[in-house]
Amino acid sequence: MNRIILIKYGELTTKKSNRKFFINTLYNNIIKKCKDLNVIISKDISRMYIEYESLDEELVIKRIGEVFGIHAYSIAYKTLTNLDSIKSTIREIIEDLDKDKKYTFKVETKRSYKKFLMNSMECNDEFGSFILKNYKNFKVDVHNPSLTFHVEIRENYSYVYLNEYKGIGGYPVGTLGHAMLMLSGGIDSPVAGYLALKRGIKLDLVYFEAIPHTSLEARNKVIELSKKLSIYGGEMRLIIVPFTKLQENIYKNVSENYSITIMRRMMYRIMEKLTLRFKSLAIINGESVGQVASQTLTSMSVINNVTNIPVIRPVACLDKLEIIDISKKIDTYDISILPYEDCCTIFVPRHPVINPVLSECIKMESTFNYEEMIDEILANLNIITITPDMDKNKYDDIL
Ligand code: ATP
Ligand code: MG
Repeated sequence: MNRIILIKYGELTTKKSNRKFFINTLYNNIIKKCKDLNVIISKDISRMYIEYESLDEELVIKRIGEVFGIHAYSIAYKTLTNLDSIKSTIREIIEDLDKDKKYTFKVETKRSYKKFLMNSMECNDEFGSFILKNYKNFKVDVHNPSLTFHVEIRENYSYVYLNEYKGIGGYPVGTLGHAMLMLSGGIDSPVAGYLALKRGIKLDLVYFEAIPHTSLEARNKVIELSKKLSIYGGEMRLIIVPFTKLQENIYKNVSENYSITIMRRMMYRIMEKLTLRFKSLAIINGESVGQVASQTLTSMSVINNVTNIPVIRPVACLDKLEIIDISKKIDTYDISILPYEDCCTIFVPRHPVINPVLSECIKMESTFNYEEMIDEILANLNIITITPDMDKNKYDDIL
């Protein structure tokens, strides 16, 4: 029997005018995801069909479980569009079931090929009678059947399947523009990135590092997290920002309790420049209201004051435990809890301000020439191309 995967788009079908763009993006994303497998993918306005080598079935299912924009899928049997072929496919499906078990069933036909000789109701009756006549252990139950035979009738081929599985949902990555994710080694920012990808946003990643105060292990941890995001987001750039000199100057020139606030204002200033340089539309980060002193609403507003670029905070209103649940699901948790210092954690003040005052920030920032340092930073970025299976050792020597 010819098994194929039949994909249902879900949410994207509500975006009528963009439908073609959404479908084409999803199609390209699936092709990229399966590029090392022998698959043939075809599409129409409501379905996508993946044909594959039978040995690869499990692998193909795993891969499509990592592609946003897939609402549901089924393992379907492809057959010619005529009554006899469809019946013999139903027969084959039943022959695979337990012969000694009793089943209740219904048939649900969708007929997008309107020239077919019967309408959907007539098809349901025809296939239902066929099953009843040939299999004594089958009984009709249209309300609560143990099996539903789905039959989709299209012009050349038709598809028969029993079960529908939930896909990962969301929008295809790339359909909702491009943004830059501030990716630290913590738990929150990879989750924020995952949620942004789920809404169809294509990402590049930005990591601020302060070598020698932070280690290469800390960077490798961020690379490992990036690889996990790349499973869902495809190839992405990881931009490594050399933050040491600016950070040292912050601690030298501003009051200790304001150092985190001002450091984050500097990060946002750099993010704004990167967003423009990489033709991006928004900044994404893992800030969560109330989590630390720099994430009170007052702090967020004073920090955000340096830029007009939209800042999206996908985990802003989630509890830490909810964030941790997602990080476990996407397999970033165990990497995030590795104990390497991040540039945010090395110079933590004893009493960070919870309600910083904007004019104070501006006054302290005017005491040193941070703009020149930002220009220097922007001239010395390291950019790494991330893919899920990249070899990170290749990058051990860039400093
Ligand atoms: P996370 O929030 O990811 O668990 P964290 O708790 O160490 O990491 P916070 O101090 O809460 O980070 O910072 C809030 C957000 O700022 C992070 O989620 C991340 O988006 C961004 N951020 C912090 N440090 C860095 C860094 N070194 N490089 C890039 N982004 C960072
Ligand atoms: Mg955090």
